[in-house]
Amino acid sequence: MRSMTNSTQFEEMTIRYSRTSVPDISAFISVGTPEDVGVIIRYANSHSREILAGNRRHAWSRTLARTRNAIMIDISTLKNITVDTEANTVTVGGGVSVGDVMPALQAVGKETTTGTCNCVGFLGASLGGGHGRLQGRHGLMADNILSVRLTTATGEVITVSDTSHPDLFWALRGAGHNFGIITEATYKIYDAANGGMQYTTNKVYDTVHMTEMFEAMNNFKVPADYSALLNVLMDTNSSTPRMVLNFVSSEPEATAKAQFASVFGHIPYISAIEAVLPWASVNGRGLTGTGDFACGNRARKRIAGVATTRYNTTAILEVFEKYKKFAARPGAGAARMIFESYSVKGVQKVDPDSTAYPWRAETGVVLMNAGYTDDARADEAEDWLFEAMAIMHASSGFPRPALYMNYASGTEGFGAMYGYDEWRQEKLKKLKKEWDPHCVFSWFNPIPIDCQR
Ligand SMILES: Cc1cc2nc3c(=O)[nH]c(=O)nc-3n(C[C@H](O)[C@H](O)[C@H](O)COP(=O)(O)OP(=O)(O)OC[C@H]3O[C@@H](n4cnc5c(N)ncnc54)[C@H](O)[C@@H]3O)c2cc1C
Repeated sequence: MRSMTNSTQFEEMTIRYSRTSVPDISAFISVGTPEDVGVIIRYANSHSREILAGNRRHAWSRTLARTRNAIMIDISTLKNITVDTEANTVTVGGGVSVGDVMPALQAVGKETTTGTCNCVGFLGASLGGGHGRLQGRHGLMADNILSVRLTTATGEVITVSDTSHPDLFWALRGAGHNFGIITEATYKIYDAANGGMQYTTNKVYDTVHMTEMFEAMNNFKVPADYSALLNVLMDTNSSTPRMVLNFVSSEPEATAKAQFASVFGHIPYISAIEAVLPWASVNGRGLTGTGDFACGNRARKRIAGVATTRYNTTAILEVFEKYKKFAARPGAGAARMIFESYSVKGVQKVDPDSTAYPWRAETGVVLMNAGYTDDARADEAEDWLFEAMAIMHASSGFPRPALYMNYASGTEGFGAMYGYDEWRQEKLKKLKKEWDPHCVFSWFNPIPIDCQR
């Protein structure tokens, strides 16, 4: 266990993906073993100190800024990965990232659903649901969890699975950041499709084709082996907004190309890059506009997501007009919008009541990122984001605001993140009162209860 409180590395160790939703951390303790997590929790409880688990520090919700004088329990050191090719499972430490897990599986001819960016924490994503390119075949990341080792709010270590604390297991898969710190988790894995190779292309389009593009995105009822991620971003060379479509398939190249041509082939593009890559390289070699390019840590960012059942082109064009004005301002060129069309075939095979993840009807995952490097843009970033959120939620196809909780700005509210069904809300609150009545784990998009602080 290493305490970094007075270290010159402290800022480096605590710096976040978004520097606008920053928790108040006064001590940073990197764990040496899973057992250290319980020791720190018990110490914090007995000294009335707040704690926050930190892995890749990518979460951006504004609720994080409610912490005061907190101890960050850095679990990024828990990096173990054990693959069992017979049982078809992978057991990972709580501090692995997407980029750690994919090569370990590829090396033995296996795969599972992961996030689309290597930099993201594997558990951080999974606990909210976890979207990724293989969800069409294997469901969400959370759908593949078989069991976890959880250190609870009292520092006790328990196993949680379908047979051990099954209600808590339900809650961990969609609202999982609220109940403790996972030091280890076991996931289902599968034989890699297409020998572990994927066809990937990025095509750059003029935004004059935006209407056709969103019609095509809507018409593309994404088959299980496909994903299409559309980035709207500024071309830094020409200061012109562009669309970059990242299309990935684990079908053979010729089939994938024919699929692309049938859906998007009629839209003229400016430039294209294409390759057939090992699955584990697709995120990191995201060509332009996606993948590791999105992982940069330094710009200020105001970010929010919206779940949609269909892209509403009129609404998107309205948001785009406002985007252009904001992104053209000095120091605002990092702003972007991402429209993630993952296949929902595997997601919708899972009984919607069997996990706390509430939005299995969602077909489009929208992310609006008001990134800026000049502090003078802060208010404008806020204005663009909130206008965009209002327009996008109103046209999302959901009757009330809905979004993937890991993409929340932190202002949307309980129902928008965890579902409006009364039974879901009651169940989550009951479990929160049972497992964390003092709200030890309530800094990231919390389940609202009357905390016994
Ligand atoms: C560039 C980028 C790309 C992304 N891509 C995807 C994607 O493809 N798919 C997707 O689903 N999401 C994606 N996300 C969202 C991502 O899932 C969330 O931001 C997630 O919370 C990040 O986890 P982290 O470990 O990286 O960050 P952290 O800020 O370290 O952790 C996030 C929260 O989870 C808690 N936490 C982390 N690990 C554990 C654990 N082991 N046990 C208990 N609590 C824990 C922390 O306390 C914190 O509150 C992306 C985000 C970014 C910034």
